Amino acid sequence: MSSAKAKVWRAIVACRTALLGAHVETGDCCGVTRPVDHSCRNRHCPQCQTRAKEQWLAKRRQELLPVPYFHRVFTLPHALHALIGQCPRVIYELLFGAASATLTEFAANPRWLGGKLAFSLILHTGKQDLGRPVPVHALVAGGALSPEGEGKSPKRGFLFPVRALSPVFRGKFLAALSEARGSGRPLVAELADEKVWRALRQQWLAHDWVVYAKQPLGGPEQVLEYLGRYTHRVAISNERLVGMDETTVCFRVRGTPGKRVLSVPAEEFIERFLLHVLPSGFQRIRHCGLLAPAAKTTKLALARQAWSVPEADPVITATVEDFLQRVGRAEWARCPHCHEGRFVPTAAIPPASHLKRDSHATDRV
Ligand SMILES: [Zn+2]
Ligand SMILES: [Zn+2]
Repeated sequence: MSSAKAKVWRAIVACRTALLGAHVETGDCCGVTRPVDHSCRNRHCPQCQTRAKEQWLAKRRQELLPVPYFHRVFTLPHALHALIGQCPRVIYELLFGAASATLTEFAANPRWLGGKLAFSLILHTGKQDLGRPVPVHALVAGGALSPEGEGKSPKRGFLFPVRALSPVFRGKFLAALSEARGSGRPLVAELADEKVWRALRQQWLAHDWVVYAKQPLGGPEQVLEYLGRYTHRVAISNERLVGMDETTVCFRVRGTPGKRVLSVPAEEFIERFLLHVLPSGFQRIRHCGLLAPAAKTTKLALARQAWSVPEADPVITATVEDFLQRVGRAEWARCPHCHEGRFVPTAAIPPASHLKRDSHATDRV
């Protein structure tokens, strides 16, 4: 297990157990108490992601443009999967880079749009059968901002021909991989061998690198709904786990053909789950073009002007967000017996250190 995977594994196993400690809250009314277990907050933990998702969505809501959104998917050929296992960070970075550069190049071409796009890229994890995740999904606002500050709309109702995107995407990815190899970036040692490298390149070029179009997303609301479904998704949510015994884990899988229950040996389940662990600090969602963090505020304001779209009212959005959070917190703090009193933290329960030592001992086994 890589250290990134081991860290995630320990966090998930310890989440809301004595290992992380807890605190006691007491109602200021009837003196009723409740223990509150501490959570791991790891982004791969199925228990910890809901809160994070709500906060993230509230922020995105302010950045969406009220235009139709296009949905493109960039995939890597199977022949590259082994390499992902060996150096995920490099491959994922190159994948993001190639997808972003391809879309940017097509948008800049006056034949298609002649301007700058606003788009988000999402690395897909959470394949239903927990197989290796590879595709990058692009959500692209249907329009571009020209250098003169004009809003450009897609001609003939589509963004770019997907067939034309594929070879450009492949070319950009392989060029970047070759450059990474030459610059001595931490790539697998075997790629240094010229013969191996040539053979692998042949294999990669022999396959189609599919870029395909998904059903366009109507407007900002659908985009948010989509993002909400995928962004903070963990490899497998708790609801999909059906059962387990001493040797196997059963979980529900959606896909073709229909819904079914898959049962796999426990070790394999853990291995598949951990395939979805991202390199530490790696960002799964990237905002590009007009949405790139450095110039987002000014660029988005220009785009709104160009498309004659009103500014999102920061006061209203902030207040709604605030209100919802306050209500949520107030509800959680209220005593369920008298509906009057409030819970306040009264005592800390320290992490069970003897358990911790035990768990490290098992980790090493
Ligand atoms: Zn957790
Ligand atoms: Zn009470």
